[in-house]
Amino acid sequence: MRALSAGELLDVWEAGFAQAPTERALALLAVACPETSRDALAAISIGQRDAGLLMLREFLWGPKMEGVVVCPGCNGRLELPLNTRQMRSSSRGTRSGEISLSIAEYEMTLRVPTSLDVIAAAGESDPEGCRTLILERCLTSVLKAGAPVDSDTLPPEVIESVMTCMAEADPLADIQLDLTCPSCEHNWNAVFDIVSFLWTEIEAWAWRILSDVHTLARAYGWRERDILALSPTRRQFYLDMVGA
Ligand SMILES: [Zn+2]
Repeated sequence: MRALSAGELLDVWEAGFAQAPTERALALLAVACPETSRDALAAISIGQRDAGLLMLREFLWGPKMEGVVVCPGCNGRLELPLNTRQMRSSSRGTRSGEISLSIAEYEMTLRVPTSLDVIAAAGESDPEGCRTLILERCLTSVLKAGAPVDSDTLPPEVIESVMTCMAEADPLADIQLDLTCPSCEHNWNAVFDIVSFLWTEIEAWAWRILSDVHTLARAYGWRERDILALSPTRRQFYLDMVGA
């Protein structure tokens, strides 16, 4: 894996306007990991994909991230120091291959979800339909008292256990933050989604750098490509020179 150049990152950002989050995630990784095909990237687990995005964030802007959440107790804004390296290392790796699970009279084999499953479920109109379709795809075999049955016949408590098993087998697919508000001491769990976090950062960065390109192109008559090829330090030097 490698970092993206400013020009490459702008290209991914521009193409991402019309894309769903999963496609944006894969587009970023496709440029960062040129040795891996797009199909192969889509077939890795969500947790492995997100570990790759956390690493890409490190390459781009370092491991420290500043998150902001709103406390559900008092509506106060909480600044949240986060660290990509800590997230990657505090979590066990993904369990590869098929996983066997026995609950009551059910014997099941399952695998963890990948981006392909999320893309396949994108046509579902509600989250429940989405979850059901992903479950159907990831449950590779369901036996009840030794006889095959459809996954849609599973009782809710068995489905819950299957979901828990999948989450435990691919921990980085579901990063939960245990938060306590310093003002009102409300305690709650929030989900950290690296795809949306990183994309928000990329959007802010893109607007900044395009504004810098505009300023320098107007002042010096340079081409966009040449301005983007400057190191951030040199770009800032010239911006300071023109008083931007
Ligand atoms: Zn609070």
